[in-house]
Amino acid sequence: MTTIGTPNTTSQTKLMLLGSGELGKEVAIAAQRLGVEVIAVDRYENAPAMQVAHKSYTIPMQDGGALRALVESERPDHIVPEIEAISTDTLVELEAEGYSVTPTARAAKLTMDREGIRKFVSNDLGIKTSEYAFADTKEDFEEACLQIGFPCVVKPIMSSSGKGQSTVHDESSMGPAWSIAQDGGRTGAGRVIVEGFVDFDYEITLLTLRHRDGTTFVDPIGHRQEDGDYQESWQPQPMTKATLTEAQRMAKTVTEGLGGHGIFGVELFIKGEEVIFSELSPRPHDTGMVTMISQNLSQFALHARAILGLPIPNIRQYGPSASHVVMGKGSSKSPSFGNLESALEEDDTDLRLFGKPEVKGERRLGVCLSLGASIDEAREKAEKAANSVEVRL
Ligand code: AMP
Repeated sequence: MTTIGTPNTTSQTKLMLLGSGELGKEVAIAAQRLGVEVIAVDRYENAPAMQVAHKSYTIPMQDGGALRALVESERPDHIVPEIEAISTDTLVELEAEGYSVTPTARAAKLTMDREGIRKFVSNDLGIKTSEYAFADTKEDFEEACLQIGFPCVVKPIMSSSGKGQSTVHDESSMGPAWSIAQDGGRTGAGRVIVEGFVDFDYEITLLTLRHRDGTTFVDPIGHRQEDGDYQESWQPQPMTKATLTEAQRMAKTVTEGLGGHGIFGVELFIKGEEVIFSELSPRPHDTGMVTMISQNLSQFALHARAILGLPIPNIRQYGPSASHVVMGKGSSKSPSFGNLESALEEDDTDLRLFGKPEVKGERRLGVCLSLGASIDEAREKAEKAANSVEVRL
């Protein structure tokens, strides 16, 4: 039986978010709507989720000692990772000591880098992925490219949003690809994964919810990435029944293997009737922001309910929907946004500005959301709205 207390009193139910970006901000709001006390943590101040949380802390989350000290002083009922770059060994220890980690500390540890989840899915579960190899040195990297063949995709094992990712078309582009990967990884230079290029027809995120009554699938989300970074997503992605069934089977196998309760973003490539696993986040997914307009319960509301042990009897999908990112490019410590009247002038269009306090280079600062009569119309509306937003840096 779930009981929820009152924030800032002795009955409080505390949720500690590790990572306070735009996805964490929406998890914080969803949890607060249910009366949960939210503590937002990140390595920089004034992060988006901190702006809506009851309390916030700035700590180096990869420092196990700092993470443990904070958890022991706050004693949260739920520890909810929002990013990969956390001391997951500490999460494993804390879970063994009785703390609840969403969905499980093992899931956080396995998905901390691309290697853990890839080996688990491919070797332990026997699920189809692209061909792959890992390399630590330039020599090993070149050998891996030659072994896998061209084109192949190289990514730092610790990276997201396309940072350090590139496609290698021939031997002459191996050198530049190695340099890009070494500059783009989250922890600087290091190990890379080389993947065979999958010439997919389309790719999806299958949001998969593990909750107290079993597994529920959200309608598939199609998306378009540029240089490995999400630009737009839409829902529901049309799929044949057989392909969707296979995608759901794969997602269920992998999420069952990881265990726990919460939402998982399972990324899959579809080619003909074939489904190929790409990667997975044991938490809300950026492409899943479309669910803020497409469903009665967004991926964030679903995550909060699952974490709190509450039922999810149904998810109502409202029809063709889309999201389109608002990017900022340049440098600023006080971005602002104009022409919002034009961005929001159309029916069934919405906007989220994340409140990110700093732009250095290219950064996702907001997202436009639309419903339409068709997926094409929803995409066009979301794109037009996003392009109307004037980002002033
Ligand atoms: P990831 O960060 O692994 O999700 O990669 C970001 C995006 O890059 C994916 O959503 C695909 O659009 C593209 N991508 C990644 N890996 C491959 C691959 N092996 N073959 C083709 N495209 C890929």
